[in-house]
Amino acid sequence: MSNITVCARFRPLSSKERSNHGDSVCIHGIDNESFIFKDDKEENFKFGFDRVFYEKSEQAEVFEFLALPIVRDAFNGMNGTVITYGQTGAGKTFSMEVEIYMEKVRDLFDLSRDNIQIKESRVQGILLSGVTEIYVFNSAEALQSLASGISNRAVGETQMNMASSRSHCIYIFTVQQELTKEKRVKAGKLLLVDLAGSEKAEKTGAEGKVLEEAKTINKSLSALGNVISALTCGSPGKAFHIPYRDSKLTRILQDALGGNSRTALLCCCSPSTSNSAESLSTLRFGTRAKHI
Ligand code: ADP
Ligand code: MG
Repeated sequence: MSNITVCARFRPLSSKERSNHGDSVCIHGIDNESFIFKDDKEENFKFGFDRVFYEKSEQAEVFEFLALPIVRDAFNGMNGTVITYGQTGAGKTFSMEVEIYMEKVRDLFDLSRDNIQIKESRVQGILLSGVTEIYVFNSAEALQSLASGISNRAVGETQMNMASSRSHCIYIFTVQQELTKEKRVKAGKLLLVDLAGSEKAEKTGAEGKVLEEAKTINKSLSALGNVISALTCGSPGKAFHIPYRDSKLTRILQDALGGNSRTALLCCCSPSTSNSAESLSTLRFGTRAKHI
């Protein structure tokens, strides 16, 4: 049984891609689960995912399908992870920051309130509602540190994108609820993982420190790919070595990928023929992950 949801998202053509006359859109949607991808050699590939979000898709749509079930789980004491993967400029951060944008997070708390009887207190973040007493790491404070975290992300310059993020970014939310009647604490964890760009180091024309960064990024992403492959190959009941220890990234994501938690992977792609090689590699990564 698969506990990973894999989706693909194509952003609109960028103005640079639009003004480049050699560029055209290399995807032809079939429905909201499949599409035909045409590579630079005019070869066609058919891909299928749990959901495909085309350029006109709205943030809320992506959020509701991909993240909301996982956020709900976190409020029910389970662990969940949302990962965005793709080359720099493909829309990873754009997609993720819906998920963590102030207003949205507040909406989320409201959404869950009905379900699990959370009430947000304006005083010290201590919430009381019926039988459940919830101590929230008050959301304003959580978001404040989140915002400073975002601005602190190590940012390097590459030819791919002036402000390409050269680090993986993992936001961890712990939701703790004290069930006074049952005298126990229910805790769920939510990981939001905005990965660094997956593009090949050579293509960016990086040098020196930036090249070293790129190599490290590629190493941890290929470690992630290897973990996914190992998980895909392992037959049930048979001990199989999963190389979680090959990178810090895979170590942190160990529970998310191999454990009982729920994971959603969003494969972000440019729709342009000029990026088709990178998009194809992103989509193949997603296809492998789908088989976990
Ligand atoms: P990444 O994090 O993958 O490097 P970004 O999320 O920073 O890429 O996106 C690159 C650029 O494309 C940004 O200017 C962003 O606003 C824009 N963009 C990405 N996805 C979309 C989308 N679905 N709709 C409109 N603009 C988008
Ligand atoms: Mg980014």
